[in-house]
Order: sequence, then structure tokens, then C-alpha cells
Amino acid sequence: MKILIVGGVAGGATAAARLRRLDEKADIIMFERGGYISFANCGLPYYIGNEIKDKDALTLQTPESFYARFRVDVRINQEVVSIDREMKSVAVKNLRTGEEYSEGYDKLILSPGAEPVMPDIAVKSDRVLTLRNIPDTLKIKNYIETQKPGSAIIVGGGYIGVEMAENLKNAGLKVTIVEMQDQIIAPLDYDMICDVHRHIVQKGVTLILSETVTSVQEDDSGLTVILGSSEIRADLLIMTVGIRPESEIAKNAGLKVNEHGGIVVDEYMTTSDENIYAVGDAVEIVDFVTGQKNMIPLAGPANKQGRIAADNICGIKSSFKGTQGSAIIKVFDMTVATTGINEKTAKKLGLAYDKSFTYSASHASYYPGAVNMSVKVLYEPESGRILGAQVVGFDGVDKRCDVLATAIRAGLNVRGLTELELCYAPPYSSAKDPVNMAGFVIENLLEGRFKQFHWHDVDSLPRDGSVILLDVRTKMEYINGHIDGFVNIPLDELREHLDELDQKKKVYLTCQIGLRGYVASRILSKYGFDVFNLSGGYRLYHSVLGQTEHPEVIGMNPETQLPESKESKESKEETDMQSIKIDACGLQCPGPIVKLSAAVKEAKAGDILEISTTDPAFACDIEGYCRRTGNIFLGMESEKGVSIAKIKKSDDNDSQSTCSIAAGNGKNFIVFSGDLDKAIASFIMANAAAALGREVSMFFTFWGLNILRKPEKVKIKKDFMSGMFSAMMPRGSKKLKLSKMNMGGMGAKMIRSIMKEKNVDSLEDLIDMAKQSGVELIACSMSMDVMGIKIEELIDGVKIGGAAAMLAHAEESDMSLFI
Ligand code: FAD
Repeated sequence: MKILIVGGVAGGATAAARLRRLDEKADIIMFERGGYISFANCGLPYYIGNEIKDKDALTLQTPESFYARFRVDVRINQEVVSIDREMKSVAVKNLRTGEEYSEGYDKLILSPGAEPVMPDIAVKSDRVLTLRNIPDTLKIKNYIETQKPGSAIIVGGGYIGVEMAENLKNAGLKVTIVEMQDQIIAPLDYDMICDVHRHIVQKGVTLILSETVTSVQEDDSGLTVILGSSEIRADLLIMTVGIRPESEIAKNAGLKVNEHGGIVVDEYMTTSDENIYAVGDAVEIVDFVTGQKNMIPLAGPANKQGRIAADNICGIKSSFKGTQGSAIIKVFDMTVATTGINEKTAKKLGLAYDKSFTYSASHASYYPGAVNMSVKVLYEPESGRILGAQVVGFDGVDKRCDVLATAIRAGLNVRGLTELELCYAPPYSSAKDPVNMAGFVIENLLEGRFKQFHWHDVDSLPRDGSVILLDVRTKMEYINGHIDGFVNIPLDELREHLDELDQKKKVYLTCQIGLRGYVASRILSKYGFDVFNLSGGYRLYHSVLGQTEHPEVIGMNPETQLPESKESKESKEETDMQSIKIDACGLQCPGPIVKLSAAVKEAKAGDILEISTTDPAFACDIEGYCRRTGNIFLGMESEKGVSIAKIKKSDDNDSQSTCSIAAGNGKNFIVFSGDLDKAIASFIMANAAAALGREVSMFFTFWGLNILRKPEKVKIKKDFMSGMFSAMMPRGSKKLKLSKMNMGGMGAKMIRSIMKEKNVDSLEDLIDMAKQSGVELIACSMSMDVMGIKIEELIDGVKIGGAAAMLAHAEESDMSLFI
């Protein structure tokens, strides 16, 4: 059998190799118009950016090596110019000699690919280039090396455009992307691309969105690119506005093509002529998710189709089931991946879909280097069919999107995501993988355990009091930025404020990423409220609708979404001073701010503190923290998901503070100990401070919680461990022991009687006195959880609070005492 192949790269070379593996006797000839075969198109941008240093690494095979291994007659620089279906032959032009000849076939495989579109708005120039193959790559690389252009414009923000932007930036050029849509990388939805826009701008690329290039002109000193309302200058322009299938010879031979020029094939990759197969970027495919005909040019499908065409020629009935558009791109430090359809497509097709947004750590947050990723999953609520997924983050994005791609391909019901048993150890994932987490959220939605609303619903919510808009983050997070109209009741205090909420009104909840909102919605719905939780929380809302202007224009750091203080530029030299480094990576809010606050207290005025975190909430926290404390925010940089913020400890906190709740003369006691003597000392000092008119707060954590327990047993349902634990601990102030000389309780009794003798109030009286004097008694929510203590077991008048509440009090005090 004689088989001819047109095109010697992804689809063509794969088909040739497979044919030979299946048939040792076949006569195989592969024609390639260019000078290279089987080259790495996908690696070309990285050679331009010097990431790939060796040009030879781009060519996976040469005609000689291909012949040696597969005995395929590879004819480079030879173009197939026409097909004679009657004669079963092709006309070939040798591009070196100009000679033309014909070659007959039994079977013909077309894998001619797609060519970059060059709109006629652009002048013909050495400065205006496209990228498809090795000669294009060498042209761009050579231009950069010899002409030393200072700037480049990429027209079109698709995959290739964005990869070129990164690589030209890495090659030292000032880069601008002009994109006519309001977003780059169209397969992603707008709400998932906003973080990527910020990242790319933060890396120094100028993004011009929603602008069309109307013409490109050239003069001696460079190019002028005319946009709708402005013009920009550049030394080099790369046109990446799309590709067009190279299907002329197919069309001229009367093979069926679609309206985009895509060659029509069946599932066996057979064209409208049974002796001609076609594969790769030039063919129309079936969208695996929608079942509709489409063009999705990607290397994976091209390779698979080449193999399938070869199989069928050799009598193996392989079929191509469709393309689902699984794609991934590196955008500087970020990874952006997608599979299946996006929300735009679901909407366009009128599909009944719902979506989930989750935000999960790449691996266990306590193991160094954990960074968060955003996961969006689209599914059909009725059937549970997964329609698509998008994942954006810094680490572990590829495997999560691949798992979701596999789930789609395998027809896994969305509920099945909860059951996937994925590899876990702390450096790699969490016991609940981000894919499982997406599944849990969706399952809860499908089971009606909570209802959600989305970032695009927020602005239309009534602000007239007819509904309750509630933000359940900590006070500090709220102060640092919140959605207009939302009031703050921190999650841990929610139960105490239930009577302030009108049960007849719908409640719209938000938190930072959706998790605390879910907990709050469970609490409220148990008390009869009709509750909706903001999917993706304030983080997503702010990512999509927050400030996105170019940082040079508004002085905004796009990564941190914080104002880049003048100080950050002016005091560049200062920031080079010796600084105190704080590693808060892996800690979740409010962990990093607590760590920072403690370090600030230790630091001297003028010291620079540099804190590394992976908690995205920290970006919001730190600016507010500086505002509240009067310390100076010097800026924040992010790399690979780790943000490094610098602050300077202020010389004069009070005078620089712009916030009314700046440090005051309050007294803050953190009562960790549950010893009788230490409890007595704490309350004596607290009452003394209150008597002097100071605001006093006492934060009870771990063993200190026992002081606040009611003496009587409270009937409450607990799990076994919690029940055991709380039964073993002293129940209330009267059961506390002395830290020294307790002597089986004798010591404690003796102290009490001596105190009585000397007219010193008992601990119980001191506690009452403190309550009456307005001392705030706060029980640490985290310790309660750990120790299995419930609110019902605590004496009246105690509030529940988190570390952030304690920190807020610490900041408003001039003394914090840890007992
Ligand atoms: P091609 O690989 O383009 O091969 C077609 C070949 O046919 C060409 O070399 C052409 O010269 C030759 N030819 C055309 N007509 C004739 C003729 N008449 N006679 C003889 N020869 C002819 N995809 C991904 O999935 N991931 C990526 O990261 C990725 N990155 C990319 C980066 C760049 C810069 C480019 C250009 C593409 C990238 N792609 C990527 C797309 C991927 O390379 C294509 O989907 C894939 O190469 C298509 O394979 P193909 O065989 O259809 O066409």
C-alpha cells in the first residue's frame, strides 16, 4: 500500500510513525513544505524568550532520523499543490528547484495545519511578523538580536499572543498587548481571567483591552499602531489574531469543507473521499461536551487524530470522540488551565447550567509553599453532567484541571468529584483535594444545603433594608475592604447577634472566599432564615469588580490590589536596609497578620519588616493594618503565589494613624493559664485597670477557658473526644488548681481562706466585678473548638472571638499581657 502524507509536523509525523509501526511493508511518503519536520511548535515562544536555549531542541526529528527509525521517505521543501482524486495522485512542487511532479497514492492523509491570519490593515514590513514555525521564530529572534528593538506590540491576546508577550518581556522588550475583547485568553470566562490580567500587568506588560487595531504604519524610526481612539508606537509587532485552516488543496479537490474552511471528516478521520483522511488544525471536529461541530486547534487532538487515521488505514477501527478543548498556558508565574466549555458558551447555547467557585490551597497549608488556586466548575444541575472547568493559580493547577478533564471525558457525574481518591501527602495536596472541594460545594448546592448568589448579582441587591446584607469576616478584614451596603458580624459572633436579625428578611452573606459564608448560612438556616451565600466571596467579587486600572496610572499594585504608596518608590533605598524577615507562608487569615503584629511590637522604629505569605486575604489585611497602626506600607510583590510585603515601623504611630481606632490606652489580657493564682492575678489587674477608666479586654484561650466555665454540668451533645476532654478539665473557677503547692486541692482551699481572711475578693467576686465594670470577656473560638467547649457551657456575658478580635484589642491598647 502506498500512503502519502501532506504536512510533516504534529498530525502528519504522528500518522507516519504509527503507519510504519502497524505496517512494515507500506510505502510511506511525507511531504513538508517547510525545511523542518516534527518540530515543537509549542516550544517556539520559549526559544525567543531564551527559556529554551538550544535551537536543536526544537526539532524532535530530522528527515534523516525519521528515515532511519521509520523508513519513511520524508521530502522537505516540497509542497503538495493539488490533488487529483480521479487519478489518486497529487501534484508536488519542489520549492528548491521549482520542479513539479506527481505522485500516486492508495491512501492520502492531509495534515496541513492552519496559518496565522495577517489582516491587511498592517503594512508589509520586517517589523510586522507572525509565529507559526521555525523560520518565523528565527526571524523574530534575529530581529531582536540584530535590531535591538526596545518595544513590541502583540495584537491579539490568545494563547500564542500571551506566550509571546511573556517571552518578549523576558527578552528585554517593553511589551503591550492589544486585544479587541475585554479579556485575554478567550476560552476562560471573564471572572476567572481578572486575576491573570492583574498578574500580567504587574509583570510589566501593558494590557489594552476592548480596543481594535485599525491600521499599522511604518516610518524610519518604527511602527505606529492606530487604535480606535489613540495610537501607540513600537519597534516590533507580532500579529496573533487567529489562524485559518490551510485547506485550499482540499477545497480545490472538491472535498467537503465547512464555512471556516475546516475539512469535514467523520469519526474515523475520513474526508468526503474514502481514500483521503484529514487530521489536525485543518479539520472540523465535534465538541465533546456540546456535540456540536467546531474548530479547536490543539496539539493533543492533532496527534491523536494522526494515530486514528493511520489505524483506520491499517484496518483498525479507531474513532475520534471529539475535542473538549483542554488547554493550559503559563502566564509568567501563573498557570491558567481550562477544559470543556466555558460559561459564555453555555449561555450562548442556552444550556441549563450552574457554576461553583472554590479557592483552595495547592497543598496542605501548613507545609511550606502552599498557594491558592481558583477553581470554577460548570455543570448541569439536573443531570449532574460536568460541562467544563477552569483553574487559575500558581502551583498544582495542571493536575487539578487534568483530573477535571478526565472526569468530563469519563462522563463522571459532578457528585462523583467528592469520591475521587486523589494522591495526598502534605507537599502535594490536602486530604480534601481542590477537586474534591469543588465537588463538596456542588453536592451541597445540589442537595439544597445552601443557596448561592454570584458576584454579578451583588450590585442589584436592594440597599433599602428589605434584605439583610451580611459580611461575616473578621472586623479587620471588613475594615480593609467590603462590599457597599454589607454590615459586619464576624462569624464567631453571629450566634450572639441573631436577635438583631429580622427573620422575615432574606439574608445575603459574604465572607472572603465563600467558606465562612457557608458556615454562617448553615447556622442561620437552622434558625429559620432564608440565606444566600456569595459564591467565591469578597475575593472573587473584588477580583472582578475591584480596581483594575493600570498601576502606572493610578498607583495601584494590581497583584495586591493596594495603593502603591509613594513611599514605596521614594524609599527604594531604604527598603534595601537590613530588614526583619517573617515567614508566614501556609498560614491562613488571621495567622499572618498576627505574626506580623507580634514582630512589629518587637521591632524598633524605622525597622523594615518583610513578611512572606501565601494567604491571599493578607493583601487586604496589611494595608488596613498599616492604616490602623500608623506603620508605613512600602509595597507588596508577588512571585509564584508568594506575596512579600514590606512595612516600615513608624517613628510615631499615633501621629501617622488615620484611623479613629488607633492605639489607645486600653489594657489587653490574654489569659492562657487555667491556674487559680494566675486567674486571680489577671482579674485583680483587669479590675484595677477598669477602675482607672481604661478599656479592658480579656481574651481567654486554651486552659484559660476553664475559668469561664459554668460550675454545673450543661447537657449538650458532644462527640466522644470532646466529651472526654471537657470532662477531664476543671469545670469553672471553683475547680481551678494552684500552679504550685496545690497539694491535691489543699493549697487552693488555703489560698481562698487566706484571701477571705485578708478581705481580698474571691475569684468569683472578681469575675463579677470585672463584668460590672465593663471588662470585655472574650473566649477564643479556636480553643473552644479544639477543647470541645460550647458557648452554652460558659458563664453569662462572655463573647466569642478569634485571634483577629484579640489583635484589634491589642492594637487599641498600650499594654498586652499574656498570662
Ligand atoms: P502543523 O503542526 O501546523 O503542521 C502542518 C504542516 O503542514 C506545516 O509544517 C506546513 O508547512 C505543512 N503544509 C501545509 N500545507 C502543505 C502542503 N500543501 N504541502 C506540504 N506541506 C504542507 N497547541 C497545544 O495544544 N498546546 C500548546 O502549547 C501550543 N502552543 C503553540 C505555540 C505556537 C507558537 C503554535 C504556532 C502552535 C501551538 N499549538 C499548541 C498548536 C499546535 O501546534 C497545533 O495544534 C498542531 O501543531 C497542529 O498540528 P497539524 O499537524 O494540524 O499542523
